[in-house]
Amino acid sequence: TQASALAAFEGSNTLADGHAVPLLANVGTGKDAAKAAAAGAEGVGLLRTEFCFLDRDSEPTHDEQVAAYGAVFAEFPGRKVVIRTLDAGADKPLPFLTNTDEPNPALGVRGYRTDTTSPGVLARQLAAIAAAAGQHEADVWVMAPMIATPEEAAHFVSLAREAGLRTAGVMVEVPSAALTARHVLAHADFASLGTNDLTQYAMAADRMLGPLAALNNPWQPAVLHLIKATCDGARAASAAGSASGSAAEQKPKPVGVCGEAAADPALAAVLVGLGVSTLSMTPRALAAVNAVLATITLAKAQELAGIALEAASAVEARDAVRAHLPVLEELG
Ligand code: PEP
Ligand code: MG
Repeated sequence: TQASALAAFEGSNTLADGHAVPLLANVGTGKDAAKAAAAGAEGVGLLRTEFCFLDRDSEPTHDEQVAAYGAVFAEFPGRKVVIRTLDAGADKPLPFLTNTDEPNPALGVRGYRTDTTSPGVLARQLAAIAAAAGQHEADVWVMAPMIATPEEAAHFVSLAREAGLRTAGVMVEVPSAALTARHVLAHADFASLGTNDLTQYAMAADRMLGPLAALNNPWQPAVLHLIKATCDGARAASAAGSASGSAAEQKPKPVGVCGEAAADPALAAVLVGLGVSTLSMTPRALAAVNAVLATITLAKAQELAGIALEAASAVEARDAVRAHLPVLEELG
């Protein structure tokens, strides 16, 4: 039953063959982080910093930012916390940063792009993140949303390093970044796939519109191919960056998923098979995802990924993969 599967979750974070797949949580505040830690999350895969400041009409001060980020870091001493710089705009407008009169907000000045219209906000946020990281034991990774090109990745990473942050990466949620992942990841330490936006942009379907829900489905094979391109690009970037140049000796740069796709247990198995190394999700999904991953090997996940990639539609991909995962029946 679902209850027994949930009760069994103790954060094993491994496949049946022992292959580690850390399961992390998506959080917005320190309160969320406390709940995520209680639910067994191994760390935080996405701290949506805009959630700390949605009610603000002016830029939060340095001290306010340090306090808000520190409240999350404090819940995960010694653990990974991936903090995302402000993703204002489109579905998450922030009055001090975004212009709500744009005709196409999803295609507008949002996320990392606000660094050109409001210079300084990003650098000040990175300074506050570095200050908060210095006060806590958490292993803090920082990333930018809406990165579209290798140049943007390089610029963001250089700003993060100037602020004193060691591990800097990018979200891959724009198809151009997925297709050029090899060059994007030549600059970044890691990538995190934002499958909500990646799906919206791959399918040209506004994620806020209910009538477009069938298009806005991360099982769409086009989306899965973009995820595969990202993982392949990360491997290529790691091999190119290694001193020996030998792919076998170099660990691929980490590629996580922090969109809703990671919370679907069958899709989580496919993502692992495509080459994703960590999954981050709403804390209430952790137990079910863990329960399914614990029943499959990496080879099985790769087989499921192959099946999904070959499918002609989202429904076909989902049904074909689910037919290979009888454990889903037990979870209900
Ligand atoms: C995403 O786009 O998948 C994502 C995780 O970010 P958000 O939902 O906050 O845009
Ligand atoms: Mg996004």
